[in-house]
Formats: sequence, structure tokens, C-alpha cells
Amino acid sequence: MRACVVGAGLGGLLAAANLAKEGFEVVVYEKLPYAGGRFTNMAYRGFQLSTGALHMIPHGEKGPLGRMLRSLSAEVEIIPSQPQAMFRIGGRDYEYEELPSIFPLRDRLKVAKIIAMLKLGRGAGSESYRSWLERQIKNEIVFKIADSFTGWSLSLSASEVPAGEVIAQTRNINKLGGPGIPAGGCGGVTQALVEVLESEGVRLLLKQRVETIRRKGGVFEVLAGEKESFELVVSNAGPKATAQLAGEILPAEYRRAVSRIRGAAGIKISVACKKPMLSHSGVLFTPEARRINGINEVTNAVPELAPHGEHLLMSHQRLAGGADVKREIELGLRDLRELFPEFKKYCRVLAVQVYRNSWPVNRAASGVHLPPATPVEGLYLVGDAVKPEGWMETDGIAAGVEEALRHIKASY
Ligand SMILES: Cc1cc2nc3c(=O)[nH]c(=O)nc-3n(C[C@H](O)[C@H](O)[C@H](O)COP(=O)(O)OP(=O)(O)OC[C@H]3O[C@@H](n4cnc5c(N)ncnc54)[C@H](O)[C@@H]3O)c2cc1C
Repeated sequence: MRACVVGAGLGGLLAAANLAKEGFEVVVYEKLPYAGGRFTNMAYRGFQLSTGALHMIPHGEKGPLGRMLRSLSAEVEIIPSQPQAMFRIGGRDYEYEELPSIFPLRDRLKVAKIIAMLKLGRGAGSESYRSWLERQIKNEIVFKIADSFTGWSLSLSASEVPAGEVIAQTRNINKLGGPGIPAGGCGGVTQALVEVLESEGVRLLLKQRVETIRRKGGVFEVLAGEKESFELVVSNAGPKATAQLAGEILPAEYRRAVSRIRGAAGIKISVACKKPMLSHSGVLFTPEARRINGINEVTNAVPELAPHGEHLLMSHQRLAGGADVKREIELGLRDLRELFPEFKKYCRVLAVQVYRNSWPVNRAASGVHLPPATPVEGLYLVGDAVKPEGWMETDGIAAGVEEALRHIKASY
């Protein structure tokens, strides 16, 4: 049985590798000259920058992506971040468990209660995370901590994400642990998956844009330069682009619903440093910064991402719709200079990358749950618009691919 995968981003590569293992004859079309989409490396001045991600996997080797890579025998070592996270408040860095101690006594118990509620997964709902917090406490720094967490990990403010989603995500963090950094960065994962595809005989066609997907005589006709027929199509192009490719074979109501899906946008600043700016490989959340939500220094775990003796620092900030991008970048750079007094002496900015529109941080904002099966039998979606509740970023992509495979196995 023949399967077509549209797009060789992480979602497409995972789907293709799994389908090949299930016995499908798989062809992957990728319009760009490289595989990996927003999750691979870009060599620049001896540094391994990335096309998107901050070289981190949300739950390290224990989450859905780590589990799937193992099940595919993809050779990737994932190094746990140590500690998982720190919070810079009032010029000092605190671990998560230490946070209650920074609050006056009257709020300390409330903060401890919030942490316990997040851990136990209590109080899930569709109200925003911010309004859920406001019902527990009135304390600006709590709201800033919440914004820095959702800004870093989801590119959303706490007002833009449902409380139920954050609570489910926190439950998964408590169960599986925090982030890990793949050896070789994002490119290490992509390379290992491409090797799996090669060993499974998958045809990976680069610089091949899929133009249309049509249905004829019970099969799909995919036009990408030439026409080819498939029993199954898995699209990693994102729901909006897929709806355009498939056109009228999808019901108008579905296409309208998909066109309204909101994504998440952000700005990443990659910085070269002559000495480490952080003493750890976890995330530094920066609730008091103007714009930057968090920072990592992945070379503290994977030194080969920078030339010998240098370090790679990356900051991330959410980009609100309609914001003045130039000003947001200026404010982000100002944050970096203020967060690190030695910035001017030891660091230089390598790249400022803006992610929005058709190359966003997420094609569907966390909290939007689109199922992988479309109304057309045999046409499925994978990628970061298809994340089940509680799963973020690339672990969400792997969890979505798992769900798509369950459907496909039940139907074929
Ligand atoms: C700044 C930033 C920081 C991030 N940090 C992290 C992080 O640290 N950890 C983490 O887990 N996630 C992170 N993410 C999110 C993560 O990078 C993305 O969710 C993930 O890479 C998306 O993968 P995907 O497969 O859904 O889509 P994509 O990577 O976009 O892949 C889709 C592919 O389909 C191809 N395509 C589209 N249309 C066609 C067509 N018609 N024909 C052929 N090919 C087509 C595209 O060229 C692309 O290669 C970050 C993202 C950004 C932008």
C-alpha cells in the first residue's frame, strides 16, 4: 500500500518512518532543499544555529518524542537539562521549588497551594490561565512568572492559553520531567530520522513541492511535478496549507474552520559568548525582563554546537499579533544587555530570527486541539497544529503522530 507524506518537518519524518515500519511504501515530498523544517541545524560561523527550535525536547528522553525515537531505533542521545529551570527574580536565580520563599508570608501559602494544584491537575477549565491564577492570588510577580513560562514554551501570554492546557502540561512535566538537549541539537534528531528513512527504503524527495491533492477512483492523486497515486496521504504542511492543497475534496465548513486557526509567533536571538553566561543547561526564565521570556545555553550540555572555547546562548520572546517587530527586537536586545552585565564584553549577536505567518513557532496555538483525521478518509494531518491536550512542542508532534497512527492502523 502506498503512502505519501507532504513535508519533511519533524512531523513528516516521524510519520514516514512509522508508516514504513508498518509496511507502507512511503514517498516524502519536501519543497525545501533540506529535511527537518523548523527542527534542524543551520551552520553559521562555526555555530549550529537552528531553523526554529531552541535545541530542546520538552520532556527529554522520557516524553513521547524520546519514546518514539527509541521505538524507531533512531540513534539520538538526549542529555537531560540540569536543573530543569531557574527563575531570575530581583537579580537572583531560584529553582522552581524555591519560588514560595520569595513571597511575603501572606502569599506564601497561596503560592504553595497553586503549585500543589498544578501538580495534582486540579481545577482544569477553559478559562485562561491568567484568570485562573487571578482567582487564587493577586500578586504581579506570580502573573509575570506565568507569562514567562507560557511565553517561552508556547509563545503565548498566560491570558492566551486555557488553564486546563497549562495544568495538563504541568502534570506531564511532573510525571516525565523537564527538557533534554539532543546531541547534535535539532539536526541530530533530523539526521537520525533521515537515516531511519534510508534504511526503510523511503523515497525522500527534496525540492519537490506538492501542488495539489485530488481524489480519483478511490485513490489520491498527488501532483508534485509529476502525478502519483497513493492510498494514504499524511500532510505535515499544516492545516491551512493542506486545505489549500486538497481544495474541494475537503468540506467547505472544515476549510473555513481551519482558516480560522490561530498560530503562535516569536523572536529568537542567538548569541555567541566567549565565556558561559549561565552555569547550567536548563532554561532561565526571566519574568522581570521587558520582552524576553527565557534563555538557554545549550552548549553547557552539548559543547559541539559552538566552536571550541565559545558558547551558544539563545533567548526567546513571544511576539504579540500586530506588534512593531523592530521595536520588539530592540527591547529583547536591551533585556539581554541588562540581564548579563558582561554582555558587551563577552558576547556578540549572531542572529535574530522572527517566526510568524507561514513559518511560526506553532501552526496552532497550544490549547487548540485539531484531530489528525480529516473528514476525507485516508487524508491525515501531523505536525505542531495537531497536538493532543497537555503535550507541547515536539513532544506534542510525536503524541499527534501516535494518534494518527492509531487511526491509520485501525482503518488499513
Ligand atoms: C523560535 C522557535 C523556538 C522553538 N523552540 C522549540 C524547542 O526548544 N523545543 C521544541 O520541542 N520545539 C520548539 N519549537 C517548535 C518546533 O520547532 C516546531 O513545533 C516543529 O519544528 C514543527 O515541526 P512540524 O513538522 O510541525 O512543521 P515544519 O517543521 O514546519 O515542517 C513542515 C514541512 O513541510 C514542508 N512543506 C510545506 N508545504 C509543502 C508542500 N506543499 N510540498 C512539500 N513540502 C511542503 C515545509 O517546507 C516544512 O519542511 C520552536 C519553534 C520556534 C520557531
